[in-house]
Amino acid sequence: MRIKIIGGIIITLDYDNMVLYNHDVIINDEIIESIVPTGRPSGDFDTTIDASGKVVMPGYINAHMHFYSTMVRGLGKAKPADDFIGVLENLWWRLDKKLTLEDVYLSTQVMLLEAIKKGCTTFIDHHASPYAVSGSLDEIEKAFKNTGLRGCLCYELSDRDGDKIAAEGLRENARFIRKCAGNQSQMMSALFGLHASFTLSDKSLDEAVRLSSEFDAGFHVHVAEAESDQITTKKLTGKSVVRRLYDAGVLGKKTIAAHCIHISDEERRLLAETDTIVVHNPQSNLNNAVGIADTLALARQGILTGLGTDAMTVDMPQELRVALWAQHFNQNNPTCGFMETADLLYKNNAVIAGRVFDGLKTGILKEGFAADVILCDYFPPTPLDNSTALGHLIFGISEAVVDTTICNGRILMLNQKIQLDLDENEICERSRELSRQLWERF
Ligand SMILES: [Zn+2]
Repeated sequence: MRIKIIGGIIITLDYDNMVLYNHDVIINDEIIESIVPTGRPSGDFDTTIDASGKVVMPGYINAHMHFYSTMVRGLGKAKPADDFIGVLENLWWRLDKKLTLEDVYLSTQVMLLEAIKKGCTTFIDHHASPYAVSGSLDEIEKAFKNTGLRGCLCYELSDRDGDKIAAEGLRENARFIRKCAGNQSQMMSALFGLHASFTLSDKSLDEAVRLSSEFDAGFHVHVAEAESDQITTKKLTGKSVVRRLYDAGVLGKKTIAAHCIHISDEERRLLAETDTIVVHNPQSNLNNAVGIADTLALARQGILTGLGTDAMTVDMPQELRVALWAQHFNQNNPTCGFMETADLLYKNNAVIAGRVFDGLKTGILKEGFAADVILCDYFPPTPLDNSTALGHLIFGISEAVVDTTICNGRILMLNQKIQLDLDENEICERSRELSRQLWERF
């Protein structure tokens, strides 16, 4: 299928060649075939999309997500917590135990429909459902297939629910990594999921490293989200969190360390040495009152740092705005870190996707890149060019309505209408029914 997008302002997110006027984007099947000056003959098209009054830009990437938390919206039953461990014990570790496979499937399905509307085309998810482990990643995959978005999945291995469930977590990760290794397309990939150092025994950690090495898979793990991860890890092993993961062989260029709020210079040095990915999740961190990662220090040390939402939203530009305000607040400086923060979403997430989707080229509108493209309603009220594009993205386009979403060359939403054979109302009705039952079990 060949698609031509005409009449829009193109924001390529290729920093050297950021904004193009009077150009058309030509998509051929899954790939951006070319971006050509308007009027140049370029053959026949199955569809032409008029982007007048819109910007054309790459689909967003969310580098740390938990779809399973969808059904918590409105649940008021959790006991108030004094700290992060309390939040886990009173809410998340009670909720995840009650999830069924159908809950897992529907909570993903609901959020993926929402993601299409917000222009987010790629997700790296971290999943937990301790009493429905086996096959849970297939349920998430099914929702991705239904919606046509890209997903990198894992199951969060933990010893917090006993040996049997830990063994299932090991198996589920290994099984799904093996399954994805046979994929021809780059729509679905896998990492080895680990909850966090403070809920993992050395035995489980070693077994995870052994299994993942068979497939050269990276890991996806929460790191020093709260100070308690450091305190417990030090008590158990005598090491800092990052040192422990380094010694165990978890770190590396395909491994995602989510959060990294409470880490030392020495730990940053280990992350840099191993080229490990860090993912920052400011809305969740503020909500849990655990602090804010020093993303400026991470950038200074050359650590690839991206942006995730930790399930707070699927709206990536909203998360980015909070990242900027949070960094200003954290550094007590109202003008610091603009470029480092913009890079989290507009540059680094694409590099991260390339690493965890086996060389996938996405996140830039450029010949040969994946046709992951969105159109947003936007009339720039001030000059929009290479030097101002990031300002427009953060302060203007972030608020714009997403009109059209294309992933892997497939039109998933056109003129704000979902183009899939899915009944959103029916899906949400079933989700409400299951949520009610889940809340009763909670
Ligand atoms: Zn998380």
